[in-house]
Amino acid sequence: MNIILLGPPGAGKGTQAQRIEDAKGMKQLSTGDMLRAAVAAGTPVGLKAKEIMARGELVPDEVVVGIISDRIEDADCANGFILDGFPRNVAQAEALDVMLKEKGKQLDAVVQLEVDDAILLGRIEKRASETAGGPRADDNAEALKKRLDVYHAQTAPLIDYYSAKGSLRIVNGMADMDDVTRQIMEVLER
Ligand code: AMP
Repeated sequence: MNIILLGPPGAGKGTQAQRIEDAKGMKQLSTGDMLRAAVAAGTPVGLKAKEIMARGELVPDEVVVGIISDRIEDADCANGFILDGFPRNVAQAEALDVMLKEKGKQLDAVVQLEVDDAILLGRIEKRASETAGGPRADDNAEALKKRLDVYHAQTAPLIDYYSAKGSLRIVNGMADMDDVTRQIMEVLER
């Protein structure tokens, strides 16, 4: 089974993706994690992405599309994958459609974690104060707010995109973490 976890920054996509990975043996593919690894390793992709990520903006589509296109063919994705943080805009979603078709793969569900902005802003302030000086250059209040703006402007249109295709499944991301996991498992088993 191949799925997308869709939701704003701070919605808990990473945590839930790990839980699905553990429960279902599907592979979590986080473009954010892969980009952070590239930045840490100082690869050409990392050098290109570093400042953009620190500002909370999106790295160029061709960079992330290339990463995902290579990655979904790896052996550890044979049992399915969970896209966490990709696609981030309609152009990436269209590129994903093309690449899946070319590779003879399909998307089984798009799970949207729905969380109100007021809750996210609260989490953002908390995360910024807890993680100051930590490993993520974009975990400061300014970059986090920018990421939320980018989500609304560029990523939220994917809700309509996948809704029109009939693949959208909505989960209440404001419930406690275990309940969100239960809701996700339920929609995946439907
Ligand atoms: P994340 O860990 O998913 O919050 O991603 C952290 C940062 O990595 C984002 O704010 C972007 O700068 C970059 N990034 C991650 N995934 C993508 C993507 N699919 N397209 C563009 N930029 C991305």
